[in-house]
Amino acid sequence: MNPARRPLICGNWKMYKGGLAGIELAQSVIAFAKELPKVDVVVAPPFTAIAAVGSVLEESRSTVGLAGQNLYPKNEGAFTGEISGPFLKEAGCAWVILGHSERRQYFAETDAFVADKVGAALGAGLCPIICVGETLEQRERGETLRVVKTQVEAFLDVIARALDGANAPVAIAYEPVWAIGTGKVAGPAEAEEVHQAIRTWLKNKSESLAEKTRILYGGSVKADNAAALLGCPNVDGALVGGASLDAGSFGAIARAAQPS
Ligand code: PEP
Repeated sequence: MNPARRPLICGNWKMYKGGLAGIELAQSVIAFAKELPKVDVVVAPPFTAIAAVGSVLEESRSTVGLAGQNLYPKNEGAFTGEISGPFLKEAGCAWVILGHSERRQYFAETDAFVADKVGAALGAGLCPIICVGETLEQRERGETLRVVKTQVEAFLDVIARALDGANAPVAIAYEPVWAIGTGKVAGPAEAEEVHQAIRTWLKNKSESLAEKTRILYGGSVKADNAAALLGCPNVDGALVGGASLDAGSFGAIARAAQPS
């Protein structure tokens, strides 16, 4: 295993577990993560729970990482309702999910805006987990690789610049939109095809970028399909939505990532 690409399992809690329920879930994640020293386990609570979950992680000296689910690409200012990279960092985050398909779909986030956010995250010292993926219509039209390539190319220069001198600051999550929250999961071969293509585009930019960037799969990952997906050579982890809301399921997925 390439040490720069330790398995990374991130739970995206979306707009769930915003208060006490988030703290309870975090405590259960802390407990199972202790048994998995070779896996980077990260949780992304909603903004209202981040500081509280951060305190619980700190008090228990846990290695579980904390992620924001979004940021606004300015450090501060008159941007009502938004949260900046430095604010996330101060609240204990080391990670931030960017360009999730729900943000692209419901909040009209463009590739250019996502690239701005990636730059802001890296500038704040956060590791972005950048989501890309095609819709069902695009897949059926045979456009998967073209669509994903366009999304990746939009932030490729930004991450390549950041890698100069830094160590593996970025993860990319391939999340086919048709698989998110639907129970339909890409088969290992379908996922690997896209992951391998992403690795090649990274390599064309920089060998070390390709070596160090973790490419996660996301889209209906569950305890019973995780091992097959995580066994693909270019799948370095998973971004998990629904199944991360239950510590038992999330723990089983993280265990499937633990190298023997
Ligand atoms: C996600 O929200 O990133 C996701 C992959 O959701 P789910 O696992 O529920 O499909």
